[in-house]
Amino acid sequence: MEKFIVSARKYRPATFDTVVGQKSITNTLKNAIKNHYLAQAYLFTGPRGVGKTTSARIFAKTINCLNIDLENNPDLIEPCNECESCRSFSENASFNIMELDAASNNSVDDIRRLVDQVRIPPQVGKYKVYIIDEVHMLSQAAFNAFLKTLEEPPLYVKFILATTEKHKIIPTILSRCQVFDFKRISVIDIAKYLRFVAESENVVADDDALHLIAIKADGAMRDALSIFDQLVSYTNANVTYQQVVENLHVLDYDYFFQISDQFLSGDITSILLILNDIIERGFDGQHFLIGLGGHLRNLLISRDTKTINLLETSASIKQRYLENASKFPSSFLLKALDLNTQCDVNYKSSNNKRLLIELTLMQMVALGSGIEEYVPKETIPDLQVKKNIKTEIVSAKVEELAKPPQVVEEEKETLNEPPVQPILSEPEEKELSTPHQSISEEQISPTRVQRMPKGMGLGVSIKAEENAKENEINPDAYMIGKEDIADEYNQKDVDKICDEFLESIIQHQSLYATLKSNRAKIIDGFIVELQVYNDAQKSVLSDKLFDIVKLLRTRLNNYKLTAKIKLIENDNNNKPLSPVERYNAMVEKNPNLKKLKDNLNLELEF
Ligand SMILES: [Zn+2]
Repeated sequence: MEKFIVSARKYRPATFDTVVGQKSITNTLKNAIKNHYLAQAYLFTGPRGVGKTTSARIFAKTINCLNIDLENNPDLIEPCNECESCRSFSENASFNIMELDAASNNSVDDIRRLVDQVRIPPQVGKYKVYIIDEVHMLSQAAFNAFLKTLEEPPLYVKFILATTEKHKIIPTILSRCQVFDFKRISVIDIAKYLRFVAESENVVADDDALHLIAIKADGAMRDALSIFDQLVSYTNANVTYQQVVENLHVLDYDYFFQISDQFLSGDITSILLILNDIIERGFDGQHFLIGLGGHLRNLLISRDTKTINLLETSASIKQRYLENASKFPSSFLLKALDLNTQCDVNYKSSNNKRLLIELTLMQMVALGSGIEEYVPKETIPDLQVKKNIKTEIVSAKVEELAKPPQVVEEEKETLNEPPVQPILSEPEEKELSTPHQSISEEQISPTRVQRMPKGMGLGVSIKAEENAKENEINPDAYMIGKEDIADEYNQKDVDKICDEFLESIIQHQSLYATLKSNRAKIIDGFIVELQVYNDAQKSVLSDKLFDIVKLLRTRLNNYKLTAKIKLIENDNNNKPLSPVERYNAMVEKNPNLKKLKDNLNLELEF
């Protein structure tokens, strides 16, 4: 095969109609030319590789094209690529179009040179067009030197500024430009264009492979084309899905489909082995979590015909999602996504990152093994077929592995592990009130216990298993026959019991201090709220929540009572604020700040 020309350059669009994924912008520009409404200055903003500079060049070429005939052919607004102006432009020999890369020419002198040239009118064509790329890189002094010219350029001058970072452009410049926001190009659009390039270059490529390249390119056509080039030369012009997976070091969809299948079968062993395989292939945990989050999201949106179009995959993988999605109730997917997000958030600060992921997966399995209990059967026909066999396996294992939450507590303390989410999806976890994370508003009865699925004891809680066998304790045993008892009680009663509870956690100094100064409050007749100020406290307390509920119920003789944890955010002493949180807090104090931000068109930096 002859030397492959870099596709990004060879296939750079030369007309408005061939620009991919920016239809509304190219149409607006064409209409402006057609109706003679040309602004003096444009600002093209958006992520890298989405067509900003390309569109600027096409625009510059079109307004100078000698063959544009608005009177006789008003709808043909494309450069002819044949006239003197178009040709000199294509050969990079045009004096009418200057390009300045502000990343490397950002001094006052560079701008002064540019301003000097502005005075000379065009020789061929109507306009001199200045394209300034990465304009946010101009120094403050260069910006100032530029401002005057930008304000009152000669009629034959047009400026097109391009930037990936609009928020760095000072308002005085912004207000003088017509702004076009270029969006990321969709996976589907990129894949389609890659198909076109592949066919033009006689490259064999399967659809899944092109989609995967498009996903990896993250909305940037330039990146997609350069990845494509690499793969074409590597694979000798025969690009398959498997080769892309290997070369781009991406996590195969197949892994995630296998994992989600095991959520249903409750086979934690297989999941741990799959995770091991993934880690051995050199993927880091966070990479895996992002992939798993994406997979759960894809399953969720595949459940609804209205959202199915949000799925940016090839037809064959879409089909696979459609077939799988019906097996999972939305409530499961939402909770699993929530667990995944929590794990992702805690990942960086965890001392045992792998264990954190493994625990999260176990929690998802525990969640999945309960599906049959709470999903209306008619909504999951596939599951019904397998149900008999599966239920037997799961429930057989479950009975012997069910263990009281107290055992988890002891075990944790003896192992002296960092605080992590509880191994069991205990009832208290359902009660957590975490406004910033909780997706589902569904309230689940506090008395329902998620069973431990098959294989759960493997290497994790052998002690728990033994205990469960020995004692046969049903954590809800104390409730039997008392579900309807609900004696009256008051805050004073609650205070007294909480004091006793405090004594029992005196070794957890920070939690002790928090709960001591923020008494548990009765929210309504049946809900008692405990306040905490950060995730660490929440995590420690949530481990204890079942005990607290049990204690309160027994002592108050009220078995309808539940307790929940409330995470109080924005507390300056305990939790650093993000810029957005700080901004919101400031706006709360002084609403004029928001007006100022909106009027000046400012954006928050994250
Ligand atoms: Zn032309």
